[in-house]
Amino acid sequence: MDHLKDTYRHQGKRKLLVEELGEMGIKDQRVLNAFNAVPRHFFMDLALDDLAYTNGAFHIGSGQTISHPYTVAFQTELIELTPKLKVLEIGTGSGFQTCILCELGARVYSIERHQDLHVKATQLIKHLKYDPRLKYGDGYQGWPSYAPFDRILVTCGAPDVPEELLKQLAVGGIMVIPVGEGEEQRMLRIKRSSEVDFTSEELGTFKFVPMLERRVDIKDTKR
Ligand code: SAH
Repeated sequence: MDHLKDTYRHQGKRKLLVEELGEMGIKDQRVLNAFNAVPRHFFMDLALDDLAYTNGAFHIGSGQTISHPYTVAFQTELIELTPKLKVLEIGTGSGFQTCILCELGARVYSIERHQDLHVKATQLIKHLKYDPRLKYGDGYQGWPSYAPFDRILVTCGAPDVPEELLKQLAVGGIMVIPVGEGEEQRMLRIKRSSEVDFTSEELGTFKFVPMLERRVDIKDTKR
């Protein structure tokens, strides 16, 4: 991990990105501070170093992408996180969003279905000294042994809202999930007000990689 250097150049670019996120409508100063604290270029290939602080989604291997900074910031703002809340993230991917959640003081649980991404993210996150629980598994199942969760954040596009995740959302909890089968998904924020009552709001259209079932073992990953 010798290439993990956070230079003044990176820090300067990061500040500009944070300003841009503010101009794009991200209001929560704690979310913006978290973006200033987590070096996004660490989560991307060295060849993409110059692009790490532009508002784009980039490849991270296994056909997956690190989400746009604006999308990560928007989803993070929507879950209304306060320190100590227990959050389940579906789609660890590069681990960038996971670290943003940790930076906000949450107790983070994150699941990734691609074993190679899970292994890579685990090493990097450990290097950065964050301490989430990470699992190689299928997010459709949630993580029953740690349920219920105060917040659930899905970072891949689901065809519909998985029943199992609704079950694992605490009463009073919030789930943010992009839903839709085509190219685009509607961002839903679902609040659970009792055992049986859920309300849902739609908050714009986004593009995510699809939420797929079953795990993908390292040896089955095409490179
Ligand atoms: N939060 C990530 C976004 C990665 S893209 C980041 O900041 O980099 C979404 C990720 O969801 C991909 O890595 C994809 O492999 C993963 N994914 C898709 N379906 C999944 C499922 N059923 N369970 C767990 N992860 C899944």
